[in-house]
Parts: sequence; structure tokens; C-alpha cells
Amino acid sequence: MARVHPEIYFFGGGTAEGRASMREILGGKGAGLAEMASLKLPVPPGFTISTQVCNYFYDHKHKYPKGLEAGVAKSIARIEKVMGRKFGDPKNPLLVSVRSGARVSMPGMMDTVLNLGLNDQTVLGLEAVSGNPRFAWDSYRRFCQMYGDVVLKLKPESKHEHDPFEELIDRKKASRGVKNDIDLSVDDLKELVSEFRDLIRRRVGRAIPQDPKAQLWEAIGAVFDSWNNERAIAYRKFNNIPGDWGTAVTVQSMVFGNLGGDCATGVAFTRDPSTGERGIYGEFLANAQGEDVVAGIRNPLQISLAAGRRRAETDGVSEADRAANFATLEEQFPAIYKELLKISDRLEKHFRDMQDMEFTIERGRLFMLQTRTGKRTAEAAVRAAVQMANEKLIDRRTALTRVEPEQLEQLLHPRLDPSAKKDVLARGLPASPGAVAGEVVFTADEAVEAVNAGRRVILVRHETSPEDIHGMQVAEGILTARGGMTSHAAVVARGMGKCCVAGCSAVEIDYAAGTMQANGRTLRRGEFITLDGSTGEVIAGRVATVEPEMSDFFRTFMKWADQERKLGVRANADTPTDAHVAIEFGAEGIGLCRTEHMFFGPGRIDAVREMIMAEDHQQRARALEKIVPMQREDFVAILREMAGKPVTIRLLDPPLHEFLPKNEAEIEKLAETIGADPERLMQVRNSLEEFNPMLGHRGSRLGVSYPEIYRAQARAILEAAIQLRAEGVKAIPEIMLPLIGERKEFEMLAAEIREEAKEVSSRNGKVRLNFTIGTMIEVPRACIVADQIGEVADFFSFGTNDLTQMTYGLSRDDSSKFLNDYLSRGIYKKDPFQELDATGVAGLMKIGIEKGRKANKGIKIGICGEHGGDPASVKLCHRLGLDYVSCSPFRLPVAKLAAAQAAIEARQTKRAFKDV
Ligand code: PEP
Ligand code: MG
Repeated sequence: MARVHPEIYFFGGGTAEGRASMREILGGKGAGLAEMASLKLPVPPGFTISTQVCNYFYDHKHKYPKGLEAGVAKSIARIEKVMGRKFGDPKNPLLVSVRSGARVSMPGMMDTVLNLGLNDQTVLGLEAVSGNPRFAWDSYRRFCQMYGDVVLKLKPESKHEHDPFEELIDRKKASRGVKNDIDLSVDDLKELVSEFRDLIRRRVGRAIPQDPKAQLWEAIGAVFDSWNNERAIAYRKFNNIPGDWGTAVTVQSMVFGNLGGDCATGVAFTRDPSTGERGIYGEFLANAQGEDVVAGIRNPLQISLAAGRRRAETDGVSEADRAANFATLEEQFPAIYKELLKISDRLEKHFRDMQDMEFTIERGRLFMLQTRTGKRTAEAAVRAAVQMANEKLIDRRTALTRVEPEQLEQLLHPRLDPSAKKDVLARGLPASPGAVAGEVVFTADEAVEAVNAGRRVILVRHETSPEDIHGMQVAEGILTARGGMTSHAAVVARGMGKCCVAGCSAVEIDYAAGTMQANGRTLRRGEFITLDGSTGEVIAGRVATVEPEMSDFFRTFMKWADQERKLGVRANADTPTDAHVAIEFGAEGIGLCRTEHMFFGPGRIDAVREMIMAEDHQQRARALEKIVPMQREDFVAILREMAGKPVTIRLLDPPLHEFLPKNEAEIEKLAETIGADPERLMQVRNSLEEFNPMLGHRGSRLGVSYPEIYRAQARAILEAAIQLRAEGVKAIPEIMLPLIGERKEFEMLAAEIREEAKEVSSRNGKVRLNFTIGTMIEVPRACIVADQIGEVADFFSFGTNDLTQMTYGLSRDDSSKFLNDYLSRGIYKKDPFQELDATGVAGLMKIGIEKGRKANKGIKIGICGEHGGDPASVKLCHRLGLDYVSCSPFRLPVAKLAAAQAAIEARQTKRAFKDV
């Protein structure tokens, strides 16, 4: 059939005008439905109005493109034909849903209207055709409520405001002495409908239109409007989703999961979204509409028998009790279960990725309402990627692109210490992994306030909704009393990589009193609880945690990443413990060992202060003699840990005043300890004070003024290497000078170090010392004169923290106060201290690399600023042609995967160019 309008895409009856690849214009939902329809899966017919119309709508004062109205009318006629029902027919009415759908999923952020097409006449028709008056009037009640909420904007603005419709329902239930909606009679529902309509008339000044066509257009407008509601804007900002993507609107024939016992609705994943285990995983509710599953009003049941049994076991439910009260879809609807399995398999094979599907069973018939790429925990992402590659569903390279590098950090989250005592209060669903402790808070605002005051919190709610996002973002973890694994709290927490225990029905919350109760115990706001997101346990107090272990899937995945990446990966480590973790995570060396941390060590600071107080070079050298053995010990331990791998040790960087006491009392104490005059101490401190210490007497400038400091450090490093060699341990120290901006500066300091090396060697039987001397490149001038410095340096390491600071002229310490203004106004897209500036700072790096390599072909070049662990920056470093990146040990897997993905992307680009 010919297209009815260029911006409308029909699907259903075994055909579709759209495709899965058209997410940008059809939105994820529209694209998924189109693809399923063209695969001839049972999809209720409908059509999608493209995202382009959303942009048109905003650009043209909420008007629609020419011909759209006629196109929608023709499309409705096509749905009518497939369904054999007519829109507005008082005898056998067609009802539709009007749904939002952006190109990426924005769960719960935008609006939807269901059961559209109902009015005072058609409800009677629905009653007659369904033979189920309760269903018909409950559908009408839901429609009036949703229409009032979404189209007529009667939705409560805040958590403190009551939903006026829910209030009427509660009043009705109270007056009838019943607890659940389901216990209301048909007459009660009829009364509710008329009470809802009175409320709407009173509050809005007009009624819900009776004409289905008018309802449809108002609903379409409301869904487009919802693209720019506050929640959606906040969500886009947090997830970096551009505002001009727009939402599509899908109008689709309704199917009902709430017509009786032979109906149901549910959500299923092709693999377990928490663990990645193969096989269908999901939840359903019999005799319910889809919104009931997501809203967490009733606790849903498991789809497969195996999962149902597992769940019963964790909940301590006997098999008999489970079979009687928690029967799975596999047991209640065996034929449908088989059909769903087949479809699940087909969809996963078709899309070659884990799918998240919504379905409805209407009178024993299965309908697919949505399929999309399933959101998953990091654990599940890694396992599914490895297993899909092993199943030959995808290749290894594709598997490596299936995990967000940032996600990997989740796997490194701590777990509860298995030997720690646990005072378990209750158990809920293990919705998102990790183990966290925090003070109980009950609202998102409270959470934000407490976190701003430096406290750690767990957000505890009946269930969460999009209004809670800001609280979820700052909380350590989330606990809900209601809802399943697919509830809002579970889905959002998983996406954020936050620990979450959901549907913990033993917990009773009293928001007004600020208390939660569980199994007879009461906890007040501010008391500590611990959550275990992997078992669902809610524990009183704070429980110790242990570092995570790596699974075989993780090891395999990282092995594949290692095979693919071209960039070397090192760690920034200042202590033997850091070095040990670095090795565990597969560091190929240390890219930055900051020696100043060693100066602050316990028992050392006084010696360091004595060195600073020294009146001349000799006195300083004597004080340094006390420091050298301590530093040597550290270097021995670190170099031993890294046996045979290169270790870049940077000589002292911060200005000396940082090591001095800050106030008078401290000065008095120090004077007594080191036998100095407090007056003089004060004078020294004052003389070292600088207006702008970041640009002051720090880094190699200290070395130029006090070469004995750098010589002492070099001595400690080289003596450590000699000691290790005697023990048979290979040590590869790389001595790095900070803040170099001029060749002569480097030459002078390198000469001092070599001189020192000679002395060390001759004191040790003329032993040959293997070491190199290189420099940080962190002053913009160093990039420009990198050819001159490159002639004399063995290696470069970009210190992009300082390089960013100096390139932008933005203080690393003070800019956070105003940087947000730049980010919120879009002047900067990203915080340049987090993500390497691809044009400015990287432009200077490019010059530095080219000039450095031109002067010294074999020069080794890396990066050791914080950017070395940021995925986008790592990819940029790959493109710049660096030899390695260096980052904190816990970021190593993130950096490795980003490096592997960069190599894969480069290969794809190369191939694309070849094809041109
Ligand atoms: C840098 O400037 O990027 C760097 C690694 O050094 P620091 O952060 O110690 O100044
Ligand atoms: Mg620096």
C-alpha cells in the first residue's frame, strides 16, 4: 500500500513501512514495532509519526506539517481494517494507545495515553463486546485519569501534592470498606468516572472531548509536549541527550491484558539483565495492564519455572506454596510460554543482541508490544558479550563494543565482607549490584541536602518515579518497598550503576513520621543501613565491604580487549599497595609515581620540614640524608612489586610551603620537635607564601633552586634499583621532571641527576645503572618547543591536568565554582578537566608529539593526567598516536576497553575509507 504521508510509518497486518535502523525518526519504540511487524510477529497494528514532526511542532508554534491530519485519518482507517473495529463505533469500538518514543529510551520521562477512543457511548460498546462490564468501566476510569493527568495536566507537581484522581479512588475504597482497586464494584467504577469528570470540569473548566478524533489530536499534542517537560529535560541533561532529537508518537491499537484470567501482561529479557545468564528472564501480572507492572503496584510473578523456583528459594517459600500462589507464566500459560520463547530467540538472533520485550496476552493470544536493546548491569553486559561471541551470534570485536567502558567500574565495586556480622532487617529484590551503606532518607530533596552536607545516604521510598531522579543520582543506593526487577527504581538504578534493592515488601515506610519498619524493628531518618544489591539484603547499621573478585567472563573479556588494543596501559600509583592493585588489573607499568606523597608520610614530615627550614645548601643536604633512606624503602617496595615493568617516578612537584604547618599552634609544635625558633619558622613560611602557587615555585623550578632535593631523590631511586638487582629483581626506573618548559632547564637538571648517578655508581663498585630521564609535558610552551626538549629527553608524559589548566587559563582549584555556568550554558560541552579538550589541549599535544618524534624518533610518549582513565580521552589518545595512557588502578579495565574500542573504531574508519 502507498505511504499516506512522508512523516507517518504504518505497521501491522504482516507489513511495515519502517525498519529497525530508523530509530532516529521512528524512535526506539516505533523502530522496534516496525521491525517486529515486518518479521510477521504478532504486533497490534499502528503507525508512528516521526521525530521530525516533533521538531516541526516546536518550530511552528505547535502546528503540524501539511497533510498530517489527513494522513493520520487514513492511517486510523488502515488500523480499523486490520482490526475489524472502528474508531468511535458505539458497538465495537477501536481503542488506541498514544505513546512517546525517543531514539534512546528515556524510561518514564515522557507521557502516554491508553484506552483512547472511549466515551459515554463506546464504553457501552466495549462492555457489550467484551462481555465484561467491570473491564469496560475500569478501562474508562483509567482513560479519564490518564487523559486528565497527561492531556489536561492535572498531574501532581510534587511528591507532597496528592494525585487528585488517586485521592478520589482512596475515598471510594474507604467508603466501601475495601483495600484494593480490584474490590470496587462496577457501580463504584461508574461513579468514579463521573467524579473524575466533575473534577476535570471543576479544575480545567472543560470536559474530556467525547469525539475520539479530538481526543487523538489532543493526546498527540500532549505527547509531543512531554518531550520538553521538566523531568525529560533533566534526564536529557544528565544523559547528554540533545534536545533537538525530539520524540516520535506511536498510535497503536490497544490489546488488553486485563480482560480476565486468560489475560496477562509482562516484560521479558532474552537474558537475565542482572547476571547476563542465557535464557528468558522476566515478570508478568495476570489480568493486568502494562502500567501495573512498571508502577510496581502489585508484585509480579516470574516467567520461567526455573527462575520462579530460584526466587522462591531465596524468599524461603516452599515449593507447594510457590506452585499454589506464585505460579509462573510457564505453568499458567504453557502454550504462550513456548511461543514467547520462540519469539525471544528469534528477536535476539535477528538483532544479535539481548532484547527487552513487552508483551500482552489477550484472551489466550500473545501480542508483542515492544522490543528494544535490553539495559543490563555491567556483570550481565560482560557475560552476555562473551557468551554471544562464543555462541557465534557476534564476533569478538563486536562483543568488545557491547560494553560501555565506564560500566566496567561497576564490576570493581566492593561486596559485603563475607565474614562480617550482618543484622539483616529484610530482603528485597537484588535489582542492581554493589554493597553500600548510608543514612536513611525518604525524599530526593532530603538526599540532595544531606549529600551536600557531606553525608552518605540511602534513598528509601515506596517506589520511585522520575521526580526522584535527582535524589537517586546523589544517593549511595536505593531501597524500594514495592515494584519488581523492571520497576522504575530497578531500571534507573541499573542504568546509573547504582546499588538498588527493590520490592522489599517487608519494609513499611511512614514518610510523615520519618520512619521505616521491617519485621518489628523501627529505623528513623538518619540511621544507617547497608544494602546488598546482589542478594537483595537490607541490613541494619554499617557492614564492612571487601574488594570484588573478577569472574572468568570478565577475565576473558579483558583478554580480548588486550589483544585488540594498540595503546599501552599503565597506572598512576604512589604506594606499594597501589602498585599491587595495578598489577592485579594488568598494568603494564607505572606511568606516574608522585613522590610528594612519600614526603607527607608518617614520621617523615618533620624531616621534610627540617629540610625546608635549612639555612643553606649544606644544611639542606644533611636534612635530606634523613629522607633518602625512607624514600629508598618506598622505591624498593614499588619497583619490586612492578618487577621488570617500567616505573616512571616524578621528582618533587608541589611548592614547599605545602609541607609547612598551617597555623600558629602547629608552628609552635614543630619548633619544639625539631628544635627551631618559632619566629624563624613563621618567617620561612611567610617567605614561601605565593599569590599563585600553581604558577609559582614548584616542579622543576624547585629543582633549579635546590638541586640537592632532586639529587637526593635520584639517589634514593638508583640505590633502590641497585638493591633490587642484588636480589635478582629487575628494576626499570624512569626519572621524570615535572613542569619543564625550556630545554636548558631540562639539561641542567638531567646533568645533576647524571652526576648523582655517577657518584652512586662509583660508591657501588662502578655498577652500570639502567635508567632514563624524561619530562612531563604540562606547560603549553613545552609542546611548542618539544623538538628542542625531545632532543635531550628520553620520554614525554603529558600532564594534562596542568596542561588543561594552563591552556585554558582555568585554575584547577578554583574553577569548579563557575565551570558549571559554562557547562549549563553549553559554552563548554564537557568539563575539560574530565574529558580531554579535543581541539585546544589535544591540538597542543599534537604539536608536541610531532615535534618530539621528529627530534627523537624513539621517544616514548604517554599521558598521566586524570584524562588517562576517561574513555573518550583514551580514544583521543589512541588517535593522537600515544604509546600509552596511565590512570588510577581502578580505572585500568575502563582504559583498556576504551583503548580496544578505539582500535576497533579506527579499523572501521579505515575500512570505510577504502570502500569509498
Ligand atoms: C598533570 O598535571 O596532569 C599531572 C599528572 O600532574 P599533577 O596532577 O600532579 O599536577
Ligand atoms: Mg602537573
